[in-house]
Amino acid sequence: MSKSFHYCPNCSSQNIEFNFRKLSCKDCEMVYYQNVATATAVILRRKDEILFTVRNKEPQKGKLDLPGGFTDPNETAEQTCQRELKEELNLELNVSEFKYLMSQPNDYEYKTIPYKTCDLIFESNFPENAELKLELEEIVEVKWIKLSEIKLEEIGFESLRNAVSFYLENHN
Ligand SMILES: [Zn+2]
Repeated sequence: MSKSFHYCPNCSSQNIEFNFRKLSCKDCEMVYYQNVATATAVILRRKDEILFTVRNKEPQKGKLDLPGGFTDPNETAEQTCQRELKEELNLELNVSEFKYLMSQPNDYEYKTIPYKTCDLIFESNFPENAELKLELEEIVEVKWIKLSEIKLEEIGFESLRNAVSFYLENHN
């Protein structure tokens, strides 16, 4: 079951309303927004294949994922792509190499707290001869899968399923 807030973080009153988007306190008039978070994902292309990662943690542990992650404060989405590829795969790309594809809303439940994200999906070519080093805490392995052999149902997040489906319809 999802956790929720029971007290106002400012005055500790229990006279609050929280709908997982906005917390408002009727006693001290504090209003706190849990805004939609920006996250990125990258479709890395090598010939007729896409790189998928296999998640090593919840949510969607064991399912296919795309490299990427949450945008940090004061960061552009392209910088998020660059930083996450470096962190997750030890892959170095220039920010100019990420081409925007589309966005998709997503639900991301972490330790029983549901978050709403807006996933920005980019595409990029895999640099030839690059050697990957995986961040094993996050990723079990990577799988290169031919476009014709991708099974959308093996992709954990609906947002990324939709993005890969769109990519397959529009790129060959
Ligand atoms: Zn309060």
